[in-house]
Amino acid sequence: MIDVPVLLLTGRGSRRLEAEAIDVAAGLLCRSGDRTSSCVDCRRVARREHPDLLVAAPESGRRANTPPFDETSGSKETTIPTALVRALASDAFRVPYEGEKRVLVLLDVDRTEAAAFSALLKVLEEPPSRARFVLTAARPRLLPPTILSRLVLRRLPSPSRAELVSALVARGLSPEEAAARAAFCRAGVEEALELDLAGERVTRDALLEAISGILLSGSTGWALVLAGRLGAEDAAATADRLGLLAEILRDAVATGADPAGRTVHHSERFRDLSLLAGAGTEVLLEAASRALREAADLPDSRRNPRLAAEAYALSLLSL
Ligand SMILES: [Zn+2]
Repeated sequence: MIDVPVLLLTGRGSRRLEAEAIDVAAGLLCRSGDRTSSCVDCRRVARREHPDLLVAAPESGRRANTPPFDETSGSKETTIPTALVRALASDAFRVPYEGEKRVLVLLDVDRTEAAAFSALLKVLEEPPSRARFVLTAARPRLLPPTILSRLVLRRLPSPSRAELVSALVARGLSPEEAAARAAFCRAGVEEALELDLAGERVTRDALLEAISGILLSGSTGWALVLAGRLGAEDAAATADRLGLLAEILRDAVATGADPAGRTVHHSERFRDLSLLAGAGTEVLLEAASRALREAADLPDSRRNPRLAAEAYALSLLSL
């Protein structure tokens, strides 16, 4: 069990981080040492009904035991309201009801209004001795360094594809659907279940068609089509599509060595992927690594995502 004043859980998948944060809270509030559902403390934490557990989140439905705050302050549940963080900062000094300490969980702190960070920093600088803070953020780079310097960061490794598939099958999905969902989403089980599979398939097939057009026929027309299909409203969505494109390219390479398709993630498109493999391994891997580089840089840069997508697609013509 980790017992530090301020812990930040990070990694892919906000829902997965949330489940882990609640589990950490249960570990801190458990008095019996029994971490199963037969323990009253653990059970109440899991249901978010423990009086010494407080959960703050952008969405009111995920919160528990939050102190009263001015809800009219304008948040559309996309960020943790500043008024809530302020109320929570003074509430943190209250003594625990039952146990030794109180646990304050703040979910998705990377979705916090800028003004809330200074309220948060004030309480994290000198956390009350009987309070423990558990924060989650899928994108910790969005937190100010002043806050990052106050906490212990723990990164959760992403589940492997095989782990994710078996977890999805355990939740009642057919092996085919589990594999298809895991191919699109590695963040976590909840994220994979919520995924719009039909929509993802449409996006993938559109990207596969355009990248095949460029790499097999070398046409500028297809490069512009690919640019249009990659470029999204914001940098994060464009980066996701670039990541998906890199997966497609990797899959095309895999079809050559693996005719049974066991290591091909998007094996439902095996035939088209093996046609794309005709472009040659070197070309495919270079296109994939450029896409991954672009996907990694884009969210942090100030570049226009559509222009970045176009520059990427046109760069493929020289391969
Ligand atoms: Zn327990």
